[in-house]
Amino acid sequence: MTHPAWLASGLEHIWLPYAQMKTAPRPTAVERTDGSRIRLADGRELIDGVGSWWTSVHGYNHPKLLAAARAQLEPMPHVMLGGLVHEQACRLAARLAALTPGDLSRVFLSESGSVAVEVAMKIAVQYWRNAHGARRTKFVSFKGGYHGDTFATMSVCDPEEGMHALFAGALAEQHVIDLPSTPEDEAQLDALLARHGDIAAIIVEPLIQGAGGMRMHDAGVLQALRRLADRHDALLIFDEIFTGFGRTGALFAADRAGVAPDIMTLGKALTGGVTPLAATLASERVYSAFHDEDPGKALMHGPTYTGHAVGCAVANASLDLFDEEPRLEQALRLERQFEAALAPLRDTPGVRDARWLGAVAAVEMDRDFSIDAARAWFIDQGVFVRPLGRVIYLTPAFTIAEADLDRLIGAVVDCVSWLNSAPR
Ligand SMILES: *Cc1c(COP(=O)(O)O)cnc(C)c1O
Repeated sequence: MTHPAWLASGLEHIWLPYAQMKTAPRPTAVERTDGSRIRLADGRELIDGVGSWWTSVHGYNHPKLLAAARAQLEPMPHVMLGGLVHEQACRLAARLAALTPGDLSRVFLSESGSVAVEVAMKIAVQYWRNAHGARRTKFVSFKGGYHGDTFATMSVCDPEEGMHALFAGALAEQHVIDLPSTPEDEAQLDALLARHGDIAAIIVEPLIQGAGGMRMHDAGVLQALRRLADRHDALLIFDEIFTGFGRTGALFAADRAGVAPDIMTLGKALTGGVTPLAATLASERVYSAFHDEDPGKALMHGPTYTGHAVGCAVANASLDLFDEEPRLEQALRLERQFEAALAPLRDTPGVRDARWLGAVAAVEMDRDFSIDAARAWFIDQGVFVRPLGRVIYLTPAFTIAEADLDRLIGAVVDCVSWLNSAPR
């Protein structure tokens, strides 16, 4: 197999995410992407089952998204939003306010999901300061949850599974508890909220906890959180960075669940995977605590690239695609195909659980296996699939061709047999 020259020289210097650079297998060099295909530098082509961390919902290189980026580059790649503003950011804010549930009507733009969650947490804390002169600085979050890699967001991730145990002493202590799926859990959370008057907000990934292993819960859990937040006057934050933009088969998981939050974060598929961009939305009630004669009540946050013009132009084009093409029906078509193909795995030895929702499918094995070996095995089958712990999952583009999806699902089913037969 031939490797391009830039790979060997670059690997001496690049530091890759969540990778033991000394022992990890050499990363696979990519030359081009197109639709649901990844073309490798050695000429092979893979069917993509992941969508680049769940971003490329329209497939790679969608011509409308590329055209929107090109059209924005020429007149103005970007201009700072400090004292200035531009059309694409204004149009995007108005559209997101209209599309999202409830009265989420104020949109703060940033450049990564972690920052969007940081902003949500700052908004929650400052809300209590501004509106009530109260020091409410703590958060309730859930085991299995993932909200980002920065310090505040790490504090609300699952402390064991969240890949952040190393930083334990450096993180703020939060209440990280089980999702309330039974009346007893709900009573416990009720008591916790009653006991601690300093809780600013509850933060949750609605319907699917993504990075924690594609763990799914039903709408009843979110209805319980809404009830408890209202009873104790805490804010409810939905982190829809993974679930937003059709992933669950509705535009937002909040829509599918019929529950509206006070603050919502968006990222990942916001630009269909073309440029980095994220957003934090606040309800009228939350925003009204900042809208004041007092300059000290302004939101104290401002990333250099907030409202990046090319990013906003691409996000607007991505929203157009949701209008013009049947994305949500496509996501639900994936859900039906996943159900038909994966339901039988529930009775297969070695499989703890098989589950699906919208354009997400997950097969959880009952013991550990080598993720590197599995990834290499998938590449030999001509597909790109990257398990999370014991969970083999698919999050393809909603536009994936039927035959490609069949091959992805077939590879997952075959992988289960392969893992069952492999020596451990
Ligand atoms: C990916 C993710 C984040 C972090 O987003 P980054 O863009 O990686 O900073 C936060 N919350 C959820 C639910 C995510 O899936």
